[in-house]
Amino acid sequence: MKKEEIAAILDEIHVLLELQGENPFKVRAYQTAARALESLDKDLESIIEEKSLESIKGIGKALAEKIETLYHTGQLKYYDDLKASIEIGLIEMLEIPGLGPKKIKAIHDRLGITSIRELEIACNHGKIALLEGFGEKTQEKILSGIKNKELYRKRHLWWDANEIIQPIIEGLKKLPQVKKVEAAGSLRRKLETVGDLDLLAAGEQPKPIMDWFIGRKEVIEILAHGETKSSVRLQGGIQADLRVVPLKQFYFALHHFTGSKDHNVQMRSRALGMGYSLSEWGLKLESREHELSEVIVKSEAELFKKLNLSYIEPELREGMGEIEYAQKGDLPKLIEMGDIRGAFHTHTVASDGRATLKEMVSGAEALGWEYLGIADHSKSSFQANGLNEERLFQQVKDIKELNQSKKYKAHVFSGIECDILKDGSLDFEEEILKQLDYVVVSIHSGFGMNEEDMTKRMVKAIESPYVTMLGHLTGRILLQREGYAVNVAKVIDAAIANNVIIELNSNPKRLDMGWRYWHKARDKGLKCSINPDAHSVQNLAYYIAGVNVARKGWLRKEDVINTCGLKEVKKYLRKGI
Ligand SMILES: [Zn+2]
Ligand SMILES: [Zn+2]
Repeated sequence: MKKEEIAAILDEIHVLLELQGENPFKVRAYQTAARALESLDKDLESIIEEKSLESIKGIGKALAEKIETLYHTGQLKYYDDLKASIEIGLIEMLEIPGLGPKKIKAIHDRLGITSIRELEIACNHGKIALLEGFGEKTQEKILSGIKNKELYRKRHLWWDANEIIQPIIEGLKKLPQVKKVEAAGSLRRKLETVGDLDLLAAGEQPKPIMDWFIGRKEVIEILAHGETKSSVRLQGGIQADLRVVPLKQFYFALHHFTGSKDHNVQMRSRALGMGYSLSEWGLKLESREHELSEVIVKSEAELFKKLNLSYIEPELREGMGEIEYAQKGDLPKLIEMGDIRGAFHTHTVASDGRATLKEMVSGAEALGWEYLGIADHSKSSFQANGLNEERLFQQVKDIKELNQSKKYKAHVFSGIECDILKDGSLDFEEEILKQLDYVVVSIHSGFGMNEEDMTKRMVKAIESPYVTMLGHLTGRILLQREGYAVNVAKVIDAAIANNVIIELNSNPKRLDMGWRYWHKARDKGLKCSINPDAHSVQNLAYYIAGVNVARKGWLRKEDVINTCGLKEVKKYLRKGI
């Protein structure tokens, strides 16, 4: 274990002892030892070898032994036992801003409170304010701390995080001291949800960059303000970290802070195998004379090239086979934003959308799309004002007239988002469905079925003759609701066997079917449709989130039906694949 890690554990022991109400001298000893470790001017290894720990001011015999054990084994029984002896709820309370171990102990001793939930109730009943040494203000602070804790712990949708961070990136780009800037981490990998945001800038003078960053109006709390790294809390509760590195380190750091853990581990071991050592600091070649020579790169592509790899797009850096493919030069050419020529799954005011048919079509036209498919809800989705046969045919008629009027450049297709009923039959008769240009089938009810029944239900729907595509396969709502139990592999196989497309629902809360399934599915022959499931004109932009996830799922242009031009799509819809 490194000295910083050991110091962190000593600090934690100090807090836990304080929580237990231990003798203040003993409590302070751990804190003193932690500081002493941090400010060592020699490295810990040689001190331990020389057995000279005890000669350091603030470290006695007992502590020296504990530090040695942690150094050698990374574990300490005393620490584990101490943690286990304290109510977990009390330890969790330490994360509430403004609530230290002394206050938590007082609350526990006087009111018998052992969890955050109980603490919240006590605050709401005004009991905390009445405790000696607390008062109204402290109580209020604790309550808002509890709320923030819930808010802050949450991950955030990629879409929301991206919206928050873009203006900050744009601002950083304009600073004269900034030579390069990128968001790294899961945001750059386009993961559907992100935790903290990692920003990386290149510059030789970090101070003005840091000062600018922490002074943003979006910043609600400064968590750390260092010379080369600062962390802030932004509106909405998301944490953003900015690192500033010298230009020559930039691409190494960018690669390091972008890749998933698995990707980075695999890259480092590949580098080692070739006689290099790779880290956020650089790529170093160990020569025979044991002198390190540093490698200079001017882009991430050059970094990959040094390791005999073709460029790996950030979205693919998940440690899921991309390095083997890059070695063979076999990575796919991923779909791009500009490849999208239209969309199929959109709603209008006829069901639960907020825009009229005409507004939606002019929105599609503004995006430069050649076509737009309207798929309003069917009658069983009464909560979404689903269309019955009569209203559906009225819409078909309206669309026909609109196309004939040639008022819009975008062609409109008549479709439906038809409910899959509980027994797997569809909400409309085949007679009706066959009169439409295409049919999306989705589940909007009966989520609680077991996996076997749910899978049968979906497979039966897929086998129905007029189905073009399957909507939001698992029904998940990110950060809110797990998808229903379904055997995804079986549904994929049924879709391929029946020439049915599976949509990539691009609503940022859904992104369903998820990226983890796509690579294998497209190898088996599955086709995708990137569907915004737009309920307003603005929502049409969700295709961007869909393209991100499609790239993450290794999809190419040719795997996605709505990259086809109008002529090809018409042909496809008439005949199938
Ligand atoms: Zn739906
Ligand atoms: Zn929909």
